[in-house]
Amino acid sequence: MLKVANISFGYTSTEVIKNISFKANKGDYIAIIGESGSGKSTLLEIIYGLLHIEKGTVSWNDEKLLGPNFSLIPGEDFMKYLPQDFDLMPYTTVEENIGKYISSQDKNKEKRIKELLKVVDMIEFSQTKVKNLSGGQKQRVAIAKVMAKEPDVLLLDEPFSHIDNFRKNKLRRDLFKYLKSKNILCIVATHDTTDALSFADKILVIRNGKLITNKAPEALYTNPKSAYIASFFDEINKIPLSEIDSNDISKKSVLWYPNQIKLTKKEGIKATVIASYFKGSYYLIEAVLNKTILFFEHPEKLEINQQVFLEFIKKATN
Ligand code: ADP
Ligand code: MG
Repeated sequence: MLKVANISFGYTSTEVIKNISFKANKGDYIAIIGESGSGKSTLLEIIYGLLHIEKGTVSWNDEKLLGPNFSLIPGEDFMKYLPQDFDLMPYTTVEENIGKYISSQDKNKEKRIKELLKVVDMIEFSQTKVKNLSGGQKQRVAIAKVMAKEPDVLLLDEPFSHIDNFRKNKLRRDLFKYLKSKNILCIVATHDTTDALSFADKILVIRNGKLITNKAPEALYTNPKSAYIASFFDEINKIPLSEIDSNDISKKSVLWYPNQIKLTKKEGIKATVIASYFKGSYYLIEAVLNKTILFFEHPEKLEINQQVFLEFIKKATN
């Protein structure tokens, strides 16, 4: 088990990681989400042992990791870390880049390389020099490279940032299936929540260096607690209750996802359409209540200035 206990860290006197604690088990997939600058990369570097922490501890199977002040080579053996700016050897082939991390005594070396290239869908490029690959292809080779030694813990920083959507979904499915099958603990920093929602066992949300929540994806989505958290998943609406119920004097606002607001034929809450955005399987409609702009999903395009009645299906959170 990986245990992160009460860690704080600052590059200068200002702390950018503030008293973070969490635990993760072998085979888990933990997604760390947060806006850029919130501390995701710093947290991964602390766990890997690149940054020295004065406050708090990181331990693996009850053994405390000592960090960079105590080891000559930075990083832990049982862990692999893929930084945001991954580095590969440009003038050698894809196969050589990965093979470098597998012992030449290993009789299964070739088989292993093939297996890894299959996970990242790069078999056909095994003999291609890295410098001739696209950004997304390089990123896939970099992912295969960090898996070569079959670590116990894998830390990936924005691993799909250069990969186009067309390939991303298959890669995510194949990669996380593979990591589960090998019982590898994987911690991924991402600002793309689709990385997190479908696959993660737990989602850690950080804001300004603080861990603000640590929950399973379904629990986090259905009860997001704040607009900051909800906004990772959807175009969240924060609507004052007084806009929905004219008798309400509480001054409270409620969060609603666009798929929780529907058009109704009966008298409901009146809104005026501002715009319709085509989203493929639906339209995202922008409309205004009395004063508040909101977004909801609808199967068809609506006319600008059209008056509609809305019903609010399920309360998201207070
Ligand atoms: P994220 O990965 O979530 O975008 P980072 O961990 O990179 O966030 O950054 C967290 C904070 O630490 C930011 O305010 C950033 O400016 C600062 N920071 C990151 N790296 C350094 C560094 N090497 N020196 C000084 N400040 C840094
Ligand atoms: Mg980062």
